[in-house]
Amino acid sequence: MRVPFIDLPKQYQSIKKDIDNAIKGAVESGQFIMGDTVKNFEEQMSEYLDSKVVSCASGSDALLISLSTAGVKSGDEVITTPFTFFATAGAIARLGATPVFVDIKSDTYNIDPDLIEKKITERTKAIIPVHIFGLVAEMEKITKIAKKYSLYVIEDACQAIGSKYKDQNAGTFGDFGTFSFFPTKNLGAYGDGGLISVKDEDHYEYLKMFRLHGAKKKYFHDFIGVNSRLDAIQAAILSVKLKYLNEWNEKRRGIAKKYDRALSKIFKTPTVPQDRLHVYHQYPITVDERDDLQNFLKEKDISSSIYYPLPLHLQECFKYLGYHEGDLPISENTSRSILSLPIFPEITDQQIDYVIKTLKEYF
Ligand SMILES: *Cc1c(COP(=O)(O)O)cnc(C)c1O
Repeated sequence: MRVPFIDLPKQYQSIKKDIDNAIKGAVESGQFIMGDTVKNFEEQMSEYLDSKVVSCASGSDALLISLSTAGVKSGDEVITTPFTFFATAGAIARLGATPVFVDIKSDTYNIDPDLIEKKITERTKAIIPVHIFGLVAEMEKITKIAKKYSLYVIEDACQAIGSKYKDQNAGTFGDFGTFSFFPTKNLGAYGDGGLISVKDEDHYEYLKMFRLHGAKKKYFHDFIGVNSRLDAIQAAILSVKLKYLNEWNEKRRGIAKKYDRALSKIFKTPTVPQDRLHVYHQYPITVDERDDLQNFLKEKDISSSIYYPLPLHLQECFKYLGYHEGDLPISENTSRSILSLPIFPEITDQQIDYVIKTLKEYF
């Protein structure tokens, strides 16, 4: 039996009529950039998250634009985790600021809040916790530290749409929350897309102009922004898919429960603290002989993925920051032993059972 890592064509087939109509409507409207379709989607997202939101072209842009709006610039330091997708730290460095990496916790893979304070200097401007794999970081501790030192908090919620901590939505704890609609995310477009949730009214107004080259009135530029917009076709698609998001996330939790029950005695499976609602963007296990296991699964036609094979502090492009192997041991160990199993709403019970059976066979 073949088990793909994700099956987007299958998802499309399940909602084809609505999607086709939505795309057709967007094309027929002739308004491809900004306009009512985008505005409607932003209103739906605002209601979903219970926050002000501004859409943009990608999750990476959402990070860059949020940091910029927070005034992060050359010479500043921003604290984040090395165990994340590149964009989190890339955005910091792109603005000329310095990413300062803090190790993760071995149970949740999220930034360890107890290690943050000793990395704060007079140059520290912000903290970017990442809700890795769809599990919210310890936001109570993190926002407390940020308040104490007057730091901005920018949540990288790109993998965590719909996820909660103490009944509050991921992306709404900090000054900014960033979301990605990359096709494979829990709410994925058919191309790139992103969104920022924002607390402060002035930031909100600034963000809306930033994505339009700093203009409120067309061709009159108050400051230097960028071109970063969610296009109308993507917004139309996302409006359809948003209606299914909670149901799809619930399915992911159901699949995770099956994996948990069958595998938690054999592998290290995800830890979910009581106060959190996980959305399982990924379902990672950790195991010493990870590469052997991945090859074995491949032979049995089961796809798996490694997120992430090299933590950011050891990346070639960040050599200038001066980190060495051993500096952030939990991130490094996790990168060597983690493996994400197929988890997507359309996976069948037979496929799940086959993955479980095959994993048990390996041992
Ligand atoms: C996907 C992702 C991003 C970037 O999103 P894009 O829309 O692909 O630019 C940023 N951070 C994390 C943690 C992500 O998973």
